[in-house]
Amino acid sequence: MRVLIVEDEERLADALVQIFARNKMTADASYNGIDGLDNALSGIYDVIVLDIMLPGMDGIEVVRNIRKEGIKTPVLLLTAKDEISDKVKGLDSGADDYLTKPFSTDELLARVRALGRRSTADLVCEDTLSFGDISLDISTYTLSCGTNSVKLGLKEFSVMELFMKNPGRVLSKETILLKIWGYDSDAEYNNVEVYISFLRKKLAYIRSGASIKTQRGIGYSLE
Ligand code: CA
Repeated sequence: MRVLIVEDEERLADALVQIFARNKMTADASYNGIDGLDNALSGIYDVIVLDIMLPGMDGIEVVRNIRKEGIKTPVLLLTAKDEISDKVKGLDSGADDYLTKPFSTDELLARVRALGRRSTADLVCEDTLSFGDISLDISTYTLSCGTNSVKLGLKEFSVMELFMKNPGRVLSKETILLKIWGYDSDAEYNNVEVYISFLRKKLAYIRSGASIKTQRGIGYSLE
């Protein structure tokens, strides 16, 4: 599970990163609302832990923007005791849960795990993803267009799934690399290029009108 922590108290943010790491979760920290929003929009996180009082852009604005962009990642808000109205505003703006500071580490971990399970459960419910004339069966890893179909390998499937969940959105090579291969892997941009070329061949093979377009210098998008 990959967690984004947006918290301007840098020592707290860094301590949380360590705590998540010790509990077998990968975490990254952003120290202000603008960077936090940028990272959240990458779509690579399973849960976002978001402080409300932040420089740049407050937590409530961040959630609002994340949801406006169609990112459904569960958000846990961190609030100070005297921010009751912020809790309400936060939940109204699309946050999923909140935790009042100071909180215990165990409680934070439990809440984040629960939200992480929820986001995984959402994904498991749908057994087919569709875009344009193609559909992707997530139990058999089969990509179909009309009566034509082709099996995808695990990595091909993961890359295609990422595109189909973000139709029309430009995904950078970095985002694809982090989401599919993870931070700790030795994979490079070249791996991404290779899998994109495999997928393009398979899209052509099933005679789909959908294609993975190269957005020069930015990344790729499914159109
Ligand atoms: Ca703060």
